[in-house]
Amino acid sequence: EPYIALSGIRKGYRIGGEAIPIFSNLDLAIPRGDFVAIMGPSGSGKSTLLNMLAGIDRPDAGTLRIGSSRLDQMGEAARSSWRAHHMGIVFQFYNLLPMLTAAENVELPLLLKPLSARERRTRVDKVLDLVGLAGREKQYPAMMSGGQQQRVGIARAIVSDPGLLLCDEPTGDLDRKSADEVLEMLRFLNRELGKTIVMVTHDPQAALYAKRTLHLDKGDFIEEKRAA
Ligand code: ADP
Ligand code: ADP
Repeated sequence: EPYIALSGIRKGYRIGGEAIPIFSNLDLAIPRGDFVAIMGPSGSGKSTLLNMLAGIDRPDAGTLRIGSSRLDQMGEAARSSWRAHHMGIVFQFYNLLPMLTAAENVELPLLLKPLSARERRTRVDKVLDLVGLAGREKQYPAMMSGGQQQRVGIARAIVSDPGLLLCDEPTGDLDRKSADEVLEMLRFLNRELGKTIVMVTHDPQAALYAKRTLHLDKGDFIEEKRAA
């Protein structure tokens, strides 16, 4: 049984009185431990798909299950709580809070958990070390390069130890070298820590790091490539 299962998903938007369909019958199965890159032209529905996986948007019809949770049947509050406990999200523009240090940004998801300040500190130090930022705990985002900021973003996404990472154009704002470092890190999290990763990307290089690449066009997946 796949970890993530979308079946018969229908999703569209209303602009004014007009209904604009994006997905009319989308199916997708992702086993635990997979690393999937989702590519496709602008407007093909990549963000909409990621938002449904994140529980931000709900499908209009069809089933969306992650683990044992039926996200399509959950209300907004339940999805929001589910998201905080089961997944980490990595954003194109990092989404760090500028008035907080690297360590304080990474600590944020832990404030929802019953942990002591000491336990939070231990976990934050561990993940900052894992992403190669030991010693930079007290730096503010503005003092860091884009690649370093994205590594703070990755540390924040994994600090609660979720099984699933969703990445929205994680290399979209980075130079090639920083992008490759971030992709290496995602591959490490997938291979060594068993994280399931779903990554939306325009970066053809990113597909080389994923286990498979799905191309989305006109509301459906048109081809699939597996890494050799
Ligand atoms: P992608 O991420 O592949 O560029 P999106 O998922 O953002 O595609 O968008 C798919 C289609 O849905 C586009 O035509 C877009 O204009 C439309 N769309 C996306 N979000 C909304 C929204 N909130 N309201 C109206 N239309 C939307
Ligand atoms: P979460 O604890 O965030 O809900 P999951 O739903 O991914 O994580 O995990 C549910 C169960 O599966 C947990 O007991 C977890 O330890 C286990 N698990 C998580 N990732 C893996 C993996 N890569 N391989 C095997 N088991 C896993």
